[in-house]
Amino acid sequence: MKRIAKDRLSQLFDRWSQGRPLYLPVSTPAGAELKPYQAGVTYCEALNTNRSAKDFFFPQTENMMDFKVEGKTIEVKEPVRPEEDFVLFGVRACDARSFELLDRVFLTDPVDSYYKARREHGVVVTVSCRRPAETCFCTAFGIDPAAPGGDLACWPEDDFLYFTPNTPAGEALLQSAADLLEEADEQQPEAGKQALRERLQKLPIRDLPLSSFSEDKLLELFNSEKWGPLAESCLGCGTCTFVCPTCQCYDIQDYDTGHGVRRFRCWDSCMYSEFTRCAHGNPRLTQKERFRQRFMHKLVYYPANNEGLFSCVGCGRCLAKCPVSMNIVKVAKALGGEES
Ligand code: SF4
Ligand code: SF4
Repeated sequence: MKRIAKDRLSQLFDRWSQGRPLYLPVSTPAGAELKPYQAGVTYCEALNTNRSAKDFFFPQTENMMDFKVEGKTIEVKEPVRPEEDFVLFGVRACDARSFELLDRVFLTDPVDSYYKARREHGVVVTVSCRRPAETCFCTAFGIDPAAPGGDLACWPEDDFLYFTPNTPAGEALLQSAADLLEEADEQQPEAGKQALRERLQKLPIRDLPLSSFSEDKLLELFNSEKWGPLAESCLGCGTCTFVCPTCQCYDIQDYDTGHGVRRFRCWDSCMYSEFTRCAHGNPRLTQKERFRQRFMHKLVYYPANNEGLFSCVGCGRCLAKCPVSMNIVKVAKALGGEES
């Protein structure tokens, strides 16, 4: 284990940002955001950034390729490949787990080469939480924020940050700053981890009734009369899907640039009325059906295809951001047998 004094942190960031961008949480008037590091930028120890770290592997919009059509000839230009190395510092355990969930979508056949390139070029430095928020419920999904994962894990204590690598990429990052770091005793962050685990025990939504969300109850859950009342307040604004680290729906469109055609993709939302519109019509005509789809996917369909893993990491962003205070916790409690 290595450590660095907090007052030398900018030296570490200077080193890690040499020759490649380093992104880290920065305080903004609208809350914490992941921004590029440069001299004078201060790391903000905020619990959750407004938008999740997902953006760095699956950005909100990206150009996929350009092509030209002349008569019957189509000239395809080389697709843009996101092959720039980068370091992402300050990822919490919940967002780190979201990468595993996204990998199962984008890295299984057919592999998404855009996502894959970013995953291969990004080094993730996770940071253990210290004071979880009342909206946090990562432990309901078996996530331990005191063991945050990633390529390199970091535990911030009062005067020092402690580091342990989890992968060769994390080890290489640590080695690149070896002269700035000092040896540390593995036991030194233990008191902080224990204090965090005690705080987690006191969180109001640390447990969720998830045992009823199994594949064998799929039809019963799908046909539940509770969807109607639950969905009644939903505005279909899509905020919950855009802040969610595990949502992965997107749309692909072409537009005429005047010199050819550009194909791009952008995030989409199952909460939007046009999301499932296709040639034969739209199979989800009501907000209730769209609302049900989002939560059935996270709590039933995804786990049914992924060894029981739920497609939620308990980050709490949707609890904090939904304009009508509707969220996955209320849905899980209502469908799981508890009133919210
Ligand atoms: S649940 Fe809330 S955030 Fe999500 S679409 Fe409905 S109103 Fe918007
Ligand atoms: S559903 Fe809500 S709590 Fe779960 S991962 Fe998405 S934003 Fe976070």
